[in-house]
Formats: sequence, C-alpha cells, structure tokens
Amino acid sequence: TFRAILISRDEARNQSVDIVEMTPDQLMDGDVDVAVEATTVNYKDGLAITGKAPVVRHWPLVPGIDLAGTVITSSHPDWQAGDRVILNGWGVGETHHGAYAGRARLNGDWLVALPDRFTAMDAMAIGTAGYTAMLSVLALERAGMTPDRGPVVVTGAAGGVGSVAVALLSGLGWHVIASTGRTGEADWLRDLGAAEIIDRAELSEPGKPLAKERWAAGIDAVGSHTLANVLAATRYGGAVACCGLAQGMDLPASVAPFILRGVSLLGIDSVMAPKQRRVEAWSRLARDLDASRLRAITTEIGFEAIIDAAKEIVEGRIRGRVVVNMR
Ligand code: NAP
Repeated sequence: TFRAILISRDEARNQSVDIVEMTPDQLMDGDVDVAVEATTVNYKDGLAITGKAPVVRHWPLVPGIDLAGTVITSSHPDWQAGDRVILNGWGVGETHHGAYAGRARLNGDWLVALPDRFTAMDAMAIGTAGYTAMLSVLALERAGMTPDRGPVVVTGAAGGVGSVAVALLSGLGWHVIASTGRTGEADWLRDLGAAEIIDRAELSEPGKPLAKERWAAGIDAVGSHTLANVLAATRYGGAVACCGLAQGMDLPASVAPFILRGVSLLGIDSVMAPKQRRVEAWSRLARDLDASRLRAITTEIGFEAIIDAAKEIVEGRIRGRVVVNMR
C-alpha cells in the first residue's frame, strides 16, 4: 500500500479531503507506473483541494498535477523500469489520479525524461508553474522579443509562475519589472533578478485603453484589469504572454493596443501542450535556470503539509515555489 490524498464528494456535493491508504489496483488505467519522489503545490492544486473552482471532475480523485519520480513498471515502448521522469498536466489531478500518492499510473505519452541536471526535487521546484514560465518565455522569443527591445514586465511576480519568470528573464539579459502586491518581498525579488519593483495596485484597477509605453514585453499570471493595463502600456510592436487568472478570468481591455500599436497577445497553455514543446521547455530550463536562484525560490515541505499549503496558495500567501519531498 501507499499513502494518498483523496478528494471525495457526498450526495449533497460537499467535498472532503482525507489522507488514505491505497493499493495499486485502485489506480486508473495507464501503461507506466511511477514511484512518486517529489511533487509540488500549484495554484490549481489549491483550487482543487479547497474546491474553490471546478478543477476536479472525477470523484473520488487523488489531486496533484505535477510529479517527478522513477518508473517501476512499463509496457510503453519509450520507458522502462528505472527511468527518471516528469509529469506535468494532461488532466492528471483533474480527471486522472494524480501526484499526491506514493505511486501513479500514467499514460507513457504524457511523460518527459528528467533532464540530467535536475533531481526530482529540482524538477518539482520548477513544476508546472516554472514550466509555464518557460513556455511563456519561448512564446515571447518566437514573437521576436529580445532584451534589446526594452524592459519586460512580470505580474504576480512573487508567485510560482512569476518568480520563475523573473529568474529566467533576468538570466537571459532582460531588464525585469516585477509587479507584486507583496512589496515586502522587494529584496527577495531583486535577488532573483528583478531590476525594478512596482506595486500591483498600479495595474489592478480599471485603466485607459492606451497608457504611456512602459515595457516591450510581458508575462502575465494575473488576468483581468492587470492584463488590460499591461497591454495598454506595452510599447509599439511588443508582445505579452497571457498565462494566468489570479485576479480574474475576465479581460476588460480594448482593441487599441492591438490596432494602434501592433501589440500581440500570446496565449499559453501548459496542460495539453504537445510533447515536443514540453521537451523544448524542459531542456531550456535545464540550460537557462540558475541553480542558486531556483533554491532561493523554493520552500520544502512533507506530504502531511500539502493540504495546508493548498489553502495558503489560494489565499496568495505562498512565496515562490513549494516542493514536496515524497520519500
Ligand atoms: P501563485 O503562486 O499563487 O501566484 C499567483 C500570484 O498572483 C500571487 O502570488 C500574487 O502575486 C498574484 N495575485 C494573486 N491574487 C491576485 C489579485 N487578486 N490581484 C493581482 N494579483 C494577484 O500561483 P501560480 O501557481 O504561480 O499560478 C499563477 C497563475 O497562473 C494562476 O492563475 C494559475 O492558474 C495560472 N497557471 C496557468 C497555467 C497555464 O497552463 N496557462 C499553468 C500554471 C499556472 P504577488 O503576491 O506578487 O502580487
């Protein structure tokens, strides 16, 4: 048997979350069994465990959208026992039993090889949040964005996606403007590589369709008025990667930045991203993410602390990335 977190629902649709013992025959279909060595708590995991948004769509369910570990058994041609692997998304922790268990049974097509440079704990310190930050950087690069065009703004900078984005972009030579509600974390953000810190209140209220041009590019994990204001202040020909909704799912913007300044809005999805893009993102993370900065972002917790961390992330009280040691 192995320990797992299980989200259940009663007839009145009230959700409960328990730590249970499970056996391998209780896992769902898949052709690769993985011993989970590390996982993490993403914003989406917080939404699943608190039930604040309909992330879980199958009951009962083991949550957890990210894991790293070692293959135990495989009937998939790409994987064999002993291989070190990473799983991000694909509906795991939403409709398929997820990472908060000693063992996971997965579709081998979903897995990516753990880059040699990383331990399982390193990979989960990055997790979906960090891999999404990398997908966002790659999207900006495909749109022709380079540091010589001007500054880049990162919103939700003290969060998971934001903190990895700050570290990556500064390492790539960008002048990073970090927008945060936690100005008390300014020194921490400067250590990660932020050149300037702005109070997120500057961006979170309704603004004008066009504002003074402040940055060439952006990575936005916040949505709503924040994204609208980021677009309104993007320089001529710039691009903004949209990857989150921490402020809201709405986008109360106008077309002005697009049709008057040729600004591009780039959509980022990590969950169903094709394998080739994942492999590219993980190899760039292995190349570009400074190990000391990764350590500075990370807080380590144990399995028992996952449920509390899930509540804290939804309340915006988690700084950087939480990594869970499952050993
Ligand atoms: P997180 O660690 O909680 O970071 C979110 C950050 O957003 C917070 O730390 C906070 O930053 C800021 N924030 C929170 N509430 C806000 C509000 N009301 N107004 C303005 N800013 C607010 O979460 P995460 O795991 O990094 O995820 C960030 C977002 O990206 C989430 O919406 C998540 O669902 C999304 N996401 C999307 C994908 C994808 O595939 N597109 C993948 C991963 C995550 P400060 O404290 O610095 O202000």
